[in-house]
Amino acid sequence: MSVNPRNHNAKRSPLPQVDDCQGCGVCCMHMGYPPYIEGSPTQAAEKYWIDLPEHLRSELVEYRNEYQHPKQGELDGPCFWFDQTTKLCKNHEYRPSVCRDFQVGCNDCIDWRKHFGIKTRVANPE
Ligand code: SF4
Ligand code: SF4
Repeated sequence: MSVNPRNHNAKRSPLPQVDDCQGCGVCCMHMGYPPYIEGSPTQAAEKYWIDLPEHLRSELVEYRNEYQHPKQGELDGPCFWFDQTTKLCKNHEYRPSVCRDFQVGCNDCIDWRKHFGIKTRVANPE
């Protein structure tokens, strides 16, 4: 029997709900370093790279120059800017666009949290 999505009387499943990143940070755990679009012959540099203060830019370039990439099939470690004690980005106001675009509570966010064992509140849609 098929389910009619417009049948509001049907029993609906509780929805996982994430309101903020408090105590999480798992999407920063395998980034290696802040993934800016720095510009190439075919792609313009992103605004947040252009606006990055010089001391952060030079520190990041130096870190990347020494960065040991993981072996094939392995993941990068925590982002250079991720504070593992507070679980926060150390330079949140300067983070790249990809970090801004990743929405709290999106499907990938919920999947990452589940994978890393971070509890996610379950809300009933009623
Ligand atoms: S996985 Fe979701 S809740 Fe956790 S830090 Fe990333 S966006 Fe925030
Ligand atoms: S730049 Fe900040 S928000 Fe982006 S991955 Fe690194 S720690 Fe996370």
